[in-house]
Parts: sequence; C-alpha cells; structure tokens
Amino acid sequence: MSRLDSMINRLVAQRSILDHAAALIAGVPGPVLELGLGNGRTFDHLREKLPDREIFVFERKITASPRSIPDSDHVILGEIRDTLPFCGPRVGAAAALIHADLSNGDPTDDLSRRSWLSPMVADRAAPGAVVVSGHALDLPGFDELPLPEGIRPGRYYLYRKQ
Ligand code: SAM
Repeated sequence: MSRLDSMINRLVAQRSILDHAAALIAGVPGPVLELGLGNGRTFDHLREKLPDREIFVFERKITASPRSIPDSDHVILGEIRDTLPFCGPRVGAAAALIHADLSNGDPTDDLSRRSWLSPMVADRAAPGAVVVSGHALDLPGFDELPLPEGIRPGRYYLYRKQ
C-alpha cells in the first residue's frame, strides 16, 4: 500500500470513529477535549458534529489554519503532561469525549505517552465518557469498545468509562 493510500485510509477511519464517538456521547453531559490540534482538521470536524458542546483544545504549538483555531478561552497551550492534570478550573465539568491524536508513529514515544497520559485521561473523563486514541491506553474502569466497521484493529482505540 502506498503512503498516499495509507493516509487516505487513516483519514477515513478517523472521520468514521469520531462520528461514531459523537453519537455514543449523546446522553453524556460534558465538554470535549481535543488533545493535539495539529492543523485543526479533527477539531473542525468535531465542532461541526457537536455544535452544542464546548471543545477545549490542548496543543504545545499552534500551527493550524486560523479558520480551525478555537477562541482563546478554549485553547490550552503547553505540554499536555503539564496542562491536562490542572485544566479543571478552565474546563469545568469532566469530559464527555476525549480525542487523543498525539502519535508521531514512533512506538517508543507511544509507549512512553501511554504510561503518563492514561491516568490523566481517566481522571478527566465523566462516567459514560468515550475516549478515542491513536494509540493504546491503559484505562482500568473503562471498556474497550469495538471499532466501527472498516477500521482495522490497531489503527484506533475506543474506550468508554463505566
Ligand atoms: N488531529 C489533528 C488534525 O486533525 O489536524 C492532528 C494532530 S497531530 C497528529 C498531533 C499534534 O499534537 C501536533 O500538533 C503536536 O504538536 C501535538 N502534540 C503532540 N504531543 C503533545 C504534547 N505532549 N503536548 C502538547 N501537544 C502535543
């Protein structure tokens, strides 16, 4: 498979899992946490799918198109390891959806991030919240949910807090 094919598959899978997650949280109150703004594609998709939700974006360096950057009240700038545990006063309620798109494809980085990020995500998630991640997380007290049809196992991970 060419890198172009792989990228297309990844983006189709990402849209499908985010649409699925948006439907799953219909009855769960709380904001959305977008971990990693990047160029803002998934943020823009989530705000279109979830127009009534507050979406807080966590990013170390804003490089997105100005059209895909939330207002400053909804941008939490810095290293997620430093900001996520202390975002309560800004974000308020526990999150209904947490989307972590932080992987750079390096398995060592993914393992390292998995160890520090998992407990932070677990802490910020409301009961019934859904977590979508580009790499596996260790989330005791969450169920790993089946992926929507067409997404190959290992491409994304989907969890729901009990
Ligand atoms: N979902 C985005 C989109 O659709 O455009 C792409 C996100 S991109 C793969 C990952 C982003 O996460 C990068 O912009 C990077 O700067 C940010 N990031 C990665 N690790 C981070 C960390 N530890 N703290 C803050 N930002 C981080």
